[in-house]
Parts: sequence; structure tokens; C-alpha cells
Amino acid sequence: MGHVFRTEEQQGAVDGLKRYLADEVNDVFHKQYRDQFVPREKMAELMGKLTQFGLVSGTISEEHGGMGIDWLTMIQLFEEVAATSIDMSVPVLINSFGALMLSKLAPQHLRERYLPGLLDGSSFVSVGISEPDVGSNVLEIKTRARRDGDHYIISGEKTWISNGAYSDFLICTCRTGDDPRKGLTHFLLDRKEHPYEVRNIHKLAWNSQSTAQIFLDDVRVPATNMIGNEGEALKNTLSFFERSRVFVAGQGLGVARRALEEAVKYAKERKQHGKVIAGHQLISGMLADMATKVDAARLLTYRAAEMIERGVPAEMEAAMAKYFACEIGVTVARQAVQIHGGNGLTTEFLVEKLAREAIVTPIPEGTSQMQQLIIGRALTGVNAF
Ligand SMILES: Cc1cc2nc3c(=O)[nH]c(=O)nc-3n(C[C@H](O)[C@H](O)[C@H](O)COP(=O)(O)OP(=O)(O)OC[C@H]3O[C@@H](n4cnc5c(N)ncnc54)[C@H](O)[C@@H]3O)c2cc1C
Repeated sequence: MGHVFRTEEQQGAVDGLKRYLADEVNDVFHKQYRDQFVPREKMAELMGKLTQFGLVSGTISEEHGGMGIDWLTMIQLFEEVAATSIDMSVPVLINSFGALMLSKLAPQHLRERYLPGLLDGSSFVSVGISEPDVGSNVLEIKTRARRDGDHYIISGEKTWISNGAYSDFLICTCRTGDDPRKGLTHFLLDRKEHPYEVRNIHKLAWNSQSTAQIFLDDVRVPATNMIGNEGEALKNTLSFFERSRVFVAGQGLGVARRALEEAVKYAKERKQHGKVIAGHQLISGMLADMATKVDAARLLTYRAAEMIERGVPAEMEAAMAKYFACEIGVTVARQAVQIHGGNGLTTEFLVEKLAREAIVTPIPEGTSQMQQLIIGRALTGVNAF
């Protein structure tokens, strides 16, 4: 894409990151650990380097030890990570989300203790909302925190928790009261001090990072580990969704862009009927369709990022970006496989992996259907869920 939006400074930041990702990150995920779990030490080493380029640390103000980078630049950097490896993008996204929660909501003693590790890449956070029976409807959260003197005792099960196996601490959404909306509270659980059990989940794709079940069996946590006020977890979580959804849009965009790049490369090399397949009109048309979708996804994503930066409410625009970018990610990755013919089905070519990775993106952080419902509600004022 011609970058009408990019300043010289942004271009320099993107170019530097791109070189590092190509030299040091790409082969880790697509060759060395292809579809295999990347050990914590290796992931921490990569995270340490990425934070120096402004990932994670960029989302946090300088006052709290971060680099305070604007949202449009952040999403441009994040797109590069996701286009290199969706697995690498997950800890970047979750640590950014966790760092934001700590910086905006946590009491000083928790912020000072847990934020620096996220900003330099040495520690990992998980954010536990989903449960076996609680996916799209977070109002039904069952994990209980009951008061016991100056502690809370937490019991329940979380599932699909990103970073789970890597996590040093968990920001856990718990039920402290019966009101569906005002009965949810955030607690920080330190894995060493308030042990929780973690079991990794094997999936269709995204297996080079951790998605896990987390079991909480009467875990005793000091009341001072509450993040935000009691009963405000839902309100506080919703206030971050705009930002996290723009990041997930960046994941859909990243996979789609990489699939397009791989398809263009292949179409210029593969010969059939006496010429490179790029010279066949139907292939050229398919590439044009893919490129237009990728650019449209990018524009929606950048628009939402810029609105967030300017403090303009962007619930609908973030939902549009997440919905569109993740859905076209699936379409474009499938088209890239089609352009590769039989080769696209083999592990010799990256598009096989990209097609599996793309299918995941419309599920986390609110499914495509939930994004449609949010967009519909914004249009009509009528809530359909
Ligand atoms: C890779 C990955 C990472 C994740 N990371 C995290 C994490 O770090 N922390 C965390 O808390 N969670 C995480 N999640 C969980 C994720 O947020 C949920 O999977 C998601 O919210 C959907 O919930 P569900 O899977 O239970 O599906 P369900 O809610 O059971 O939905 C099933 C289907 O029904 C549809 N549906 C549901 N309700 C409606 C409705 N009202 N109208 C129309 N259709 C509807 C959905 O769109 C979907 O197609 C992750 C998930 C994945 C796959």
C-alpha cells in the first residue's frame, strides 16, 4: 500500500522493525518451531527485543515507564509483527492489554511491581475472562471470589487463556456479587504466590504460543490485589475492548497481507500454459481482489486506531475493523492457497499454515457475529443481544 498516512518517523520505525522480524523472528516460527510450542525463555528473549522497538512499551505513557507511542504508529508496528507471525503477535497483544490495565487501573503497589516486567519483555501476563460455559456472554461469569477477612478466596475455571503457560501473573475476572453487570471484579494473581494450574490447549493453529485452561482451586489472594474497584470489572473491561479489537484487527490484516505477499511471489514464479500464472487473467483478478480487501482492512484498522488516539469514541469503528479484517483474512488466505494449487496444501509452502491461522482470528476478542451485533446496535440503537 502507498502510505499516505505514514510520516518519515513512522516509516523509519516500521522499516527497522521489519528488518529485525525478517532476520530474527520469521524462521523461528515458520521453520525452527513450525506448529510447535516456543519455550518461555525463547519467547521472553524475542519479547525483550520487540519491546525495544516500542511493542508493548509503546502503549504505556512515559510517566509509567513506557514509550508513549501514538495508536496509529502502534498499529503499524503491530501489523508487521502479525504479518511475520501470528503466534508472535499474541504475547505482544496480551502483554500490551495487561500493561494498559495495570497502568490505568491498578493500585500503585501492583503497578510498580508488575508493569516493568511487561515493559521490558521479561514477564508475561494472562487476562482471564472466558470460561467453559462463558464465551460471548461475559455477564455469566461463574468464577467466584468470596471475601475472607483481608483476603479473597477464588475458585473456578478459565479457558482459552492466551499466554497461560507463560504467565507470571493473571488478571482474573471474578464474580463478587450476584448482579450480572455490577457483580464482577478484577484480581491480580501471582503465579508463585497464589498458584493456579495451567493446561495448554492444542488447536488447529496458533500452537507456537500458549492458549490454556486455568484452574483456580480456593486460591487465597490479598484484597489489596484487586484491580479497579469492586464490581467494576465489566465496565473497565469494556473500556479496553476498542483498543484490543483494533489489535485483533491487526492480526487479521497481518495474516491477509502475508498471504497476499506469498501469492504474488508464487504467481510470478509458477509457469503453466507456457507463461507465469500471474499472466493469466483469472489469477491477476484474484490477486487484485485480495489486494483491495487487504487495503480496505488496513484503512478500517488505521481509522479506528486514529480515532482512539484522538479520544473519539470508536466502538463501532473498532468492531468494523475487527470484523472485516478477520473475515477477509480467512478469504484472502484461502485465495492464496488456491493460487498455489496443490502446492498450497503442503507444508512446503507457508500459505497452508496461514490458512489455518486465519480461521482462528474471527473467534477471540468477540466473534464476528458479536461484532456484527455491536455494529447493528450502533446503527439502530436497538440491542440484539
Ligand atoms: C486463540 C484464542 C485466544 C483466546 N484468548 C483469550 C484470552 O486471553 N482471555 C479470554 O478471556 N478469552 C480468550 N479467548 C476466548 C474468546 O474470547 C472466546 O472464544 C470468544 O469470546 C467466543 O466464545 P466461545 O468460544 O465460548 O463461543 P460461544 O460464545 O459459545 O459462541 C459460539 C457461536 O455462537 C455465536 N454466538 C454466541 N452468541 C451469539 C448471539 N447472541 N447471536 C449470534 N451468535 C452468537 C458465536 O458468534 C459463535 O459463532 C480466546 C479464544 C481463542 C480461540
